[in-house]
Amino acid sequence: MLTLKRIILLTIFLFPFCLFSQTNVNNNSKFTIVIHGGAGFISKDIPDSKKNEYLNSLKEALTIGKKILANGGKSIDAVEQVIRYMEDNPNFNSGKGAVFTAIGTHELDASIMDGKDLSTGAVAGVTIIKHPISLARKVKEKTKHVLLSGPGADQFGKEIGVEIVDNHYFDTPSRLKNWEKRHKKKIEKHGTVGCVAIDMYGNIAAGTSTGGISDKMHGRVGDSPLINAGTYANNKTCGVSATGVGELFIRNTVAFNISALMEYKGYTLEQATDEMIHKRLEPGTGGIIAVDKDGNYSLSFNTPGMFRGVANSKGLFEVKIW
Ligand code: ASP
Repeated sequence: MLTLKRIILLTIFLFPFCLFSQTNVNNNSKFTIVIHGGAGFISKDIPDSKKNEYLNSLKEALTIGKKILANGGKSIDAVEQVIRYMEDNPNFNSGKGAVFTAIGTHELDASIMDGKDLSTGAVAGVTIIKHPISLARKVKEKTKHVLLSGPGADQFGKEIGVEIVDNHYFDTPSRLKNWEKRHKKKIEKHGTVGCVAIDMYGNIAAGTSTGGISDKMHGRVGDSPLINAGTYANNKTCGVSATGVGELFIRNTVAFNISALMEYKGYTLEQATDEMIHKRLEPGTGGIIAVDKDGNYSLSFNTPGMFRGVANSKGLFEVKIW
């Protein structure tokens, strides 16, 4: 029989552990992470070696995020690290490998949002920042602003000490070849990277990074650095990262509307993404990746393909193109 004294002693002894488990409250160590590497017309005739290169790059990106989340890391860190990897990988249109503007340079856009407190940071039209997603996070954490653009954003990057590179660092031979072709024919090409995750603590984060659209006008800003259009996260509903024709995602406020349909109309994540991607947008215009507050996910696109992946704490780990 436990005496009163023993019960009191036991309570005092266990109290710190109760506190510890309280501050680490989680939904049974559950997490979900989704990624994309752009949507559009992706030819099924690409050589197997190139296809495998894309799939392996997606797997590596997903593994980085999965490890962070499985070790109890925060979704905002997983999102930043996954996107940094994709910015370094020339297979994607963000950071190294970004498309060229009409004047033959690179102007990069990125944004990140934390669904815990709706804090956001974004950069548009940066030209010398190796990892735009990390500068976006610095805007979120070190300034009172949400979005910095152009020379001011580059300057902030220098001052805050993120890695600076020459604009030619972003060049790749394949993008240059494509640009030369498109520049003559005026064909647009889309591509971007994004990541959304919910961590063990129920916090949702989302981020997006891109070189924009090939041959875009100098100064053009797409949806990717715009919270509500290309990126959104709210712990009450979901997190979203978009890819596609930025102008249409801006006009239709796609990322926020998915969250709003859930919050105001009681839609499920699937219903909300279907509404925006398949009913509001024209076919062939893009897609989104999203995760909701219960760890459900959606990878929805109205284009022939979208580079994408999903992993969760139940052992799901999948990457696909078409
Ligand atoms: N949405 C991006 C933009 O318009 C491009 C893309 O996702 O492919 O800048």
